Amino acid sequence: MAYDALVIGAGHNGLAAALRLADKGWRIAVVEAKREAGGAVKTREVTLPGFRHDLCAMNVSMFAGSPFFAAHKDLLHAHGLAFCPAEDCFASVFRDGTYLGVSRTLEKTLAGISALSAADAEAWRTMLHRFGGDAPHLFALLGSPMPSWSAAKVAWKAWREKGAGWISDTLKLLLATPRDFLDAHFEHPKVKAMMAAWGLHLDFAPDVAGGALFPYLESMANQSFGMVIGKGGADTIIKAMVGALQAKGGEVLLGDGVLRIETANGAAKGVTLESGRRLEAKTIIANVHPRIVFGGLVPHGTAGAKFEAEIAKFRQGPGTMMIHLALDDPPAWRGGDALRSFAYIHIAPDLEMMSRVYAEASAGLLPTEPALVVGQPTAIDPSRAPAGKHVLWIQVRVLPAEIRGDAAGRIAATRWDEAKEPYAERVLDLIESYAPSLRARILARSIFSPLDLERENPNLIGGDNLSGSHHLDQNFFLRPTAGWSRYRTPVKNLYLCGASTWPGAGTGAGSGFMLARMLAG
Ligand SMILES: Cc1cc2nc3c(=O)[nH]c(=O)nc-3n(C[C@H](O)[C@H](O)[C@H](O)COP(=O)(O)OP(=O)(O)OC[C@H]3O[C@@H](n4cnc5c(N)ncnc54)[C@H](O)[C@@H]3O)c2cc1C
Repeated sequence: MAYDALVIGAGHNGLAAALRLADKGWRIAVVEAKREAGGAVKTREVTLPGFRHDLCAMNVSMFAGSPFFAAHKDLLHAHGLAFCPAEDCFASVFRDGTYLGVSRTLEKTLAGISALSAADAEAWRTMLHRFGGDAPHLFALLGSPMPSWSAAKVAWKAWREKGAGWISDTLKLLLATPRDFLDAHFEHPKVKAMMAAWGLHLDFAPDVAGGALFPYLESMANQSFGMVIGKGGADTIIKAMVGALQAKGGEVLLGDGVLRIETANGAAKGVTLESGRRLEAKTIIANVHPRIVFGGLVPHGTAGAKFEAEIAKFRQGPGTMMIHLALDDPPAWRGGDALRSFAYIHIAPDLEMMSRVYAEASAGLLPTEPALVVGQPTAIDPSRAPAGKHVLWIQVRVLPAEIRGDAAGRIAATRWDEAKEPYAERVLDLIESYAPSLRARILARSIFSPLDLERENPNLIGGDNLSGSHHLDQNFFLRPTAGWSRYRTPVKNLYLCGASTWPGAGTGAGSGFMLARMLAG
């Protein structure tokens, strides 16, 4: 018997789509190539027993704030979902040993900013006030299919409520570079650097158009709502979705990837798995990078030459690397013990180095001074390590997928399997310049190069954690390509969801949820 829908890929978007459809009474199966569900949201003991590391995503605030979670909250909690909130959300450390951070308590954040600039403290308050008015409209826009009547209605409502001035200010925000936006609002370089670091979580160096939005949203959302991580690991969201889906009769088939999407007369009919098993379905949803779907899963030519050529040009963002440490003791930050309680510490001390790291990575070079996101999950959730011990989550942003050389001229290897160890040493040297003797606290470590990340999850082409650059020509109604941003494809009954589709990367489950709602309400 044919399924109502088959979902290819158990990433959180695929699972969100599956759960929503199962909730509406559809007969569903999710087919996953790996033996573990979750895609870029997995938690594993990759160093020592008892030390649980979020392999990729650690910050699940986007999930906690998502319309999908709001709609299925009770069900997910019933299947074990739990979050741990951080009081101290993120901070940047600087070359002079100082830091600046954002905590849920506004006065705490303002004390740090006003010590640098009274004008910037006032600007922070003003921006926070603006965010209070922006947030309902901006989040409604990010939660609407693109383009759509609902997105148009959001813009219309905002225009009615806030006037034409708000629309032009918002357009400027959507198009601006991080540097231009930050220069227009703040004066102190440390305040600007603290916010601009968020641009590098995506692929927005300080001078890339369209990069202002994420630093604005993350800074203000952390201040307003805080940051949350998963209790016991980010995989709490995956386990809860899988449990809820199975409870509704959905099947999750692990360890048997889709080799081919079967079509007849231009319509998808089913899939053939690596094992040779064939499954039929009325609807196929691919939570898979479109370059993989139309570069082999669907027979060449089925989607039309123009569409296939456009998809083949869908660019990846820069690569990323993960270093997981099991620690005896948390890092001793030069900035002081107060830093030990922050969820994220950015080591990206000024806009100039952010520009340089991006230019070097884009040129195929291993950056001399990498930009780092250092996550301290056990500061917020001690259950992830044995008593008194810690895990450290280090994301290296941004790196070349293919290495042409070393900007510092010291690493000769040009294959990631050989370059990852020496590059990890460079990363540890850099962290030690901010947190001396980190190495002495390391009990074990595990390194995932961009290539290893792609081996873990084929959607991360070249180690691109975004499944496709978020620059303006690949975002909004252009993601993954013009005319096809509403999850349909030229192949009848075949839909896409996931980070390569609107609204892009992150744990917000947006594309899976919007697609399922479009299909079944
Ligand atoms: C290192 C790293 C750190 C990150 N940190 C954060 C963070 O802290 N916060 C945040 O919000 N976001 C973060 N992100 C981004 C976020 O994790 C991803 O954007 C998101 O999880 C992608 O989800 P997805 O639903 O698109 O699918 P994916 O997670 O990409 O999952 C797709 C699934 O499809 C499977 N698949 C692929 N091909 C096939 C096939 N042929 N047959 C069957 N199955 C197949 C894959 O194995 C995979 O399991 C991070 C990403 C990375 C890589």
